[in-house]
Amino acid sequence: MNRFFTDRIQGNTAEIAGEDIRHIEKVLRLRAGDRIVVCDGAGTDYTAEISSICPDRVTCALSDARASDTESAVRVTLLQAVPKSGKMETIVQKCVELGVYAVQPVLTARCVPLPSRDYEKKRVRYQRVALEAAKQSRRGIIPAVGSLIPLDAVDVSRFDSLIVAYEQEKETTLKQVLKEGVGREIGILIGPEGGFEEDEISRLRERGSRTVSLGTRILRTETAGMAMLAQILYELES
Ligand code: SAM
Repeated sequence: MNRFFTDRIQGNTAEIAGEDIRHIEKVLRLRAGDRIVVCDGAGTDYTAEISSICPDRVTCALSDARASDTESAVRVTLLQAVPKSGKMETIVQKCVELGVYAVQPVLTARCVPLPSRDYEKKRVRYQRVALEAAKQSRRGIIPAVGSLIPLDAVDVSRFDSLIVAYEQEKETTLKQVLKEGVGREIGILIGPEGGFEEDEISRLRERGSRTVSLGTRILRTETAGMAMLAQILYELES
Protein backbone atom coordinates (compact mmCIF):
# COMPACT_ATOMS: atom_id res chain seq x y z
CA MET A 1 0.00 0.00 0.00
CA ASN A 2 1.19 3.53 -0.70
CA ARG A 3 2.52 5.32 2.34
CA PHE A 4 2.50 9.01 3.30
CA PHE A 5 3.84 11.08 6.20
CA THR A 6 1.71 13.69 7.92
CA ASP A 7 1.78 15.48 11.24
CA ARG A 8 -1.85 16.60 10.77
CA ILE A 9 -3.63 13.87 12.72
CA GLN A 10 -6.57 14.53 15.02
CA GLY A 11 -8.47 11.65 16.56
CA ASN A 12 -9.29 9.26 13.74
CA THR A 13 -8.76 11.79 10.95
CA ALA A 14 -5.58 12.67 9.07
CA GLU A 15 -4.94 15.37 6.49
CA ILE A 16 -2.20 15.13 3.89
CA ALA A 17 -0.99 18.41 2.40
CA GLY A 18 1.63 19.74 -0.02
CA GLU A 19 3.15 17.87 -2.95
CA ASP A 20 1.68 14.54 -1.87
CA ILE A 21 -1.81 15.71 -2.94
CA ARG A 22 -0.76 15.82 -6.59
CA HIS A 23 1.02 12.49 -6.24
CA ILE A 24 -2.09 10.86 -4.74
CA GLU A 25 -4.51 12.34 -7.27
CA LYS A 26 -2.59 12.64 -10.54
CA VAL A 27 0.18 10.05 -10.34
CA LEU A 28 -1.37 7.25 -8.30
CA ARG A 29 -4.93 8.20 -9.39
CA LEU A 30 -6.33 7.29 -5.99
CA ARG A 31 -9.91 8.20 -5.19
CA ALA A 32 -12.21 8.44 -2.14
CA GLY A 33 -12.58 4.94 -0.72
CA ASP A 34 -9.05 3.84 -1.65
CA ARG A 35 -6.72 2.72 1.11
CA ILE A 36 -3.25 3.99 1.95
CA VAL A 37 -0.89 3.88 4.94
CA VAL A 38 -0.41 7.11 6.89
CA CYS A 39 2.62 7.55 9.16
CA ASP A 40 2.78 10.29 11.80
CA GLY A 41 6.58 10.58 11.51
CA ALA A 42 6.88 9.67 15.19
CA GLY A 43 6.86 5.90 14.81
CA THR A 44 3.15 5.09 14.34
CA ASP A 45 1.55 3.79 11.13
CA TYR A 46 -2.20 3.77 10.42
CA THR A 47 -4.34 2.10 7.82
CA ALA A 48 -6.22 4.96 6.20
CA GLU A 49 -9.19 5.24 3.85
CA ILE A 50 -9.33 8.34 1.70
CA SER A 51 -12.51 10.33 2.51
CA SER A 52 -12.01 13.27 0.16
CA ILE A 53 -9.45 14.87 -2.14
CA CYS A 54 -9.46 18.69 -2.27
CA PRO A 55 -6.93 21.03 -3.94
CA ASP A 56 -5.33 21.84 -0.56
CA ARG A 57 -5.66 18.53 1.34
CA VAL A 58 -6.47 14.86 1.22
CA THR A 59 -8.57 13.78 4.19
CA CYS A 60 -8.44 10.21 5.47
CA ALA A 61 -10.24 8.12 8.10
CA LEU A 62 -7.73 6.22 10.23
CA SER A 63 -7.94 2.75 11.70
CA ASP A 64 -5.53 0.14 13.02
CA ALA A 65 -2.74 2.18 14.65
CA ARG A 66 0.50 0.22 15.04
CA ALA A 67 4.18 0.86 15.69
CA SER A 68 6.12 1.28 12.42
CA ASP A 69 8.04 -1.93 11.90
CA THR A 70 11.05 -0.21 10.35
CA GLU A 71 12.27 1.51 13.53
CA SER A 72 14.91 0.05 15.79
CA ALA A 73 14.89 0.11 19.60
CA VAL A 74 18.52 1.22 19.29
CA ARG A 75 18.75 4.92 18.40
CA VAL A 76 21.95 5.90 16.62
CA THR A 77 22.66 9.59 16.04
CA LEU A 78 25.36 10.39 13.49
CA LEU A 79 27.56 13.33 14.50
CA GLN A 80 29.23 14.16 11.22
CA ALA A 81 32.10 16.64 10.88
CA VAL A 82 31.17 18.91 7.98
CA PRO A 83 32.60 17.38 4.80
CA LYS A 84 33.48 19.08 1.52
CA SER A 85 30.47 20.37 -0.40
CA GLY A 86 28.02 17.92 -1.89
CA LYS A 87 28.92 15.00 0.36
CA MET A 88 26.51 15.78 3.18
CA GLU A 89 23.46 15.06 0.99
CA THR A 90 24.80 11.59 0.24
CA ILE A 91 25.63 10.97 3.90
CA VAL A 92 22.14 12.01 5.04
CA GLN A 93 20.40 10.01 2.30
CA LYS A 94 22.29 6.77 2.87
CA CYS A 95 22.26 6.95 6.65
CA VAL A 96 18.50 7.55 6.71
CA GLU A 97 18.06 4.46 4.51
CA LEU A 98 20.28 2.47 6.88
CA GLY A 99 18.27 3.51 9.95
CA VAL A 100 19.97 6.52 11.57
CA TYR A 101 17.89 8.21 14.27
CA ALA A 102 19.20 11.76 13.72
CA VAL A 103 22.07 13.58 12.02
CA GLN A 104 24.03 16.28 13.83
CA PRO A 105 26.49 18.31 11.70
CA VAL A 106 29.57 19.24 13.74
CA LEU A 107 32.37 21.73 13.12
CA THR A 108 35.83 20.39 13.95
CA ALA A 109 39.30 21.93 13.60
CA ARG A 110 40.06 20.38 10.22
CA CYS A 111 36.73 20.90 8.48
CA VAL A 112 37.46 22.18 4.96
CA PRO A 113 36.19 24.53 3.76
CA LEU A 114 34.72 26.44 6.69
CA PRO A 115 30.95 26.40 6.27
CA SER A 116 29.33 29.65 5.21
CA ARG A 117 27.18 31.63 7.60
CA ASP A 118 24.01 30.57 5.86
CA TYR A 119 24.37 26.96 6.97
CA GLU A 120 20.70 27.02 7.98
CA LYS A 121 19.74 27.02 4.27
CA LYS A 122 21.84 23.91 3.81
CA ARG A 123 20.28 22.29 6.86
CA VAL A 124 16.81 22.82 5.36
CA ARG A 125 18.03 21.15 2.15
CA TYR A 126 19.50 18.22 4.11
CA GLN A 127 16.22 17.86 6.03
CA ARG A 128 14.41 17.63 2.69
CA VAL A 129 16.84 14.87 1.63
CA ALA A 130 16.09 13.09 4.94
CA LEU A 131 12.33 13.29 4.25
CA GLU A 132 12.67 11.83 0.75
CA ALA A 133 14.96 9.05 2.00
CA ALA A 134 12.56 8.30 4.87
CA LYS A 135 9.69 7.96 2.39
CA GLN A 136 11.73 5.76 0.07
CA SER A 137 12.95 3.45 2.82
CA ARG A 138 9.57 3.33 4.62
CA ARG A 139 10.89 4.73 7.84
CA GLY A 140 8.50 5.38 10.71
CA ILE A 141 10.25 8.64 11.59
CA ILE A 142 11.82 11.45 9.62
CA PRO A 143 15.31 11.68 11.13
CA ALA A 144 16.05 15.26 12.20
CA VAL A 145 19.08 17.05 10.79
CA GLY A 146 20.40 19.43 13.45
CA SER A 147 21.92 22.89 13.10
CA LEU A 148 25.69 23.11 12.90
CA ILE A 149 27.42 23.04 16.31
CA PRO A 150 31.09 23.21 17.31
CA LEU A 151 32.66 19.98 18.54
CA ASP A 152 32.96 21.22 22.13
CA ALA A 153 29.21 21.89 22.21
CA VAL A 154 28.37 18.20 21.68
CA ASP A 155 26.43 17.06 24.74
CA VAL A 156 28.08 13.71 25.48
CA SER A 157 25.72 13.08 28.45
CA ARG A 158 22.77 12.88 26.01
CA PHE A 159 23.99 9.45 24.93
CA ASP A 160 24.43 6.13 26.71
CA SER A 161 27.61 5.96 24.60
CA LEU A 162 29.36 8.38 22.30
CA ILE A 163 31.66 6.36 20.06
CA VAL A 164 34.28 8.26 18.08
CA ALA A 165 35.70 6.69 14.92
CA TYR A 166 39.35 7.65 15.25
CA GLU A 167 41.73 6.83 12.43
CA GLN A 168 44.72 6.70 14.87
CA GLU A 169 43.06 4.27 17.29
CA LYS A 170 45.14 1.09 17.35
CA GLU A 171 43.87 -0.69 20.48
CA THR A 172 40.09 -0.69 20.55
CA THR A 173 37.80 -1.88 17.78
CA LEU A 174 34.12 -1.10 17.31
CA LYS A 175 33.38 -4.79 17.79
CA GLN A 176 35.00 -4.79 21.26
CA VAL A 177 33.06 -1.73 22.40
CA LEU A 178 29.77 -3.19 21.15
CA LYS A 179 30.47 -6.44 23.03
CA GLU A 180 31.07 -4.50 26.25
CA GLY A 181 27.65 -2.85 25.91
CA VAL A 182 26.73 0.59 24.61
CA GLY A 183 23.10 1.08 25.67
CA ARG A 184 20.34 2.12 23.33
CA GLU A 185 20.99 5.82 22.85
CA ILE A 186 24.20 5.90 20.85
CA GLY A 187 26.12 8.75 19.22
CA ILE A 188 28.74 8.04 16.56
CA LEU A 189 31.20 10.77 15.64
CA ILE A 190 33.01 10.88 12.30
CA GLY A 191 35.87 13.25 11.54
CA PRO A 192 36.33 15.33 8.38
CA GLU A 193 38.60 14.53 5.41
CA GLY A 194 41.67 15.62 7.39
CA GLY A 195 40.76 13.57 10.46
CA PHE A 196 40.77 14.67 14.12
CA GLU A 197 43.43 16.67 15.96
CA GLU A 198 44.92 14.94 19.00
CA ASP A 199 43.67 17.52 21.47
CA GLU A 200 40.12 17.14 20.10
CA ILE A 201 40.36 13.43 20.86
CA SER A 202 41.77 14.11 24.36
CA ARG A 203 38.88 16.45 25.16
CA LEU A 204 36.33 13.93 23.87
CA ARG A 205 37.87 11.16 25.97
CA GLU A 206 37.87 13.39 29.06
CA ARG A 207 34.14 13.88 28.52
CA GLY A 208 33.52 10.12 28.47
CA SER A 209 33.63 9.21 24.77
CA ARG A 210 35.18 5.98 23.53
CA THR A 211 37.45 5.98 20.48
CA VAL A 212 37.40 3.01 18.12
CA SER A 213 39.09 1.75 15.01
CA LEU A 214 36.93 0.71 12.07
CA GLY A 215 39.70 -1.53 10.76
CA THR A 216 43.06 -1.23 9.05
CA ARG A 217 41.72 0.48 5.95
CA ILE A 218 41.09 4.23 6.09
CA LEU A 219 37.61 5.06 4.87
CA ARG A 220 36.50 8.33 3.35
CA THR A 221 34.53 10.51 5.75
CA GLU A 222 31.33 9.87 3.76
CA THR A 223 31.88 6.09 3.95
CA ALA A 224 32.85 5.85 7.62
CA GLY A 225 29.47 6.88 9.11
CA MET A 226 27.51 4.52 6.85
CA ALA A 227 29.84 1.62 7.60
CA MET A 228 29.78 2.22 11.35
CA LEU A 229 26.01 2.66 11.46
CA ALA A 230 25.40 -0.52 9.47
CA GLN A 231 27.73 -2.52 11.73
CA ILE A 232 26.12 -1.21 14.93
CA LEU A 233 22.56 -1.91 13.78
CA TYR A 234 23.59 -5.33 12.45
CA GLU A 235 25.02 -6.23 15.87
CA LEU A 236 22.34 -4.68 18.09
CA GLU A 237 19.03 -4.84 16.24
CA SER A 238 16.93 -7.79 17.24
N1 SAM B 1 43.25 12.13 7.05
C1 SAM B 1 43.16 10.97 7.90
C2 SAM B 1 44.38 10.08 7.72
O1 SAM B 1 45.00 10.16 6.68
O2 SAM B 1 44.65 9.31 8.64
C3 SAM B 1 41.91 10.15 7.55
C4 SAM B 1 40.62 10.78 7.90
S1 SAM B 1 39.25 9.79 7.34
C5 SAM B 1 39.25 10.14 5.64
C6 SAM B 1 37.86 10.69 7.92
C7 SAM B 1 37.22 10.13 9.17
O3 SAM B 1 36.65 8.85 8.92
C8 SAM B 1 38.12 9.93 10.35
O4 SAM B 1 38.36 11.10 11.09
C9 SAM B 1 37.37 8.89 11.16
O5 SAM B 1 36.35 9.48 11.91
C10 SAM B 1 36.75 8.03 10.07
N2 SAM B 1 37.58 6.87 9.72
C11 SAM B 1 37.94 6.49 8.47
N3 SAM B 1 38.59 5.32 8.48
C12 SAM B 1 38.67 4.93 9.78
C13 SAM B 1 39.21 3.79 10.43
N4 SAM B 1 39.81 2.81 9.78
N5 SAM B 1 39.07 3.72 11.79
C14 SAM B 1 38.46 4.69 12.47
N6 SAM B 1 37.93 5.79 11.90
C15 SAM B 1 38.01 5.91 10.58
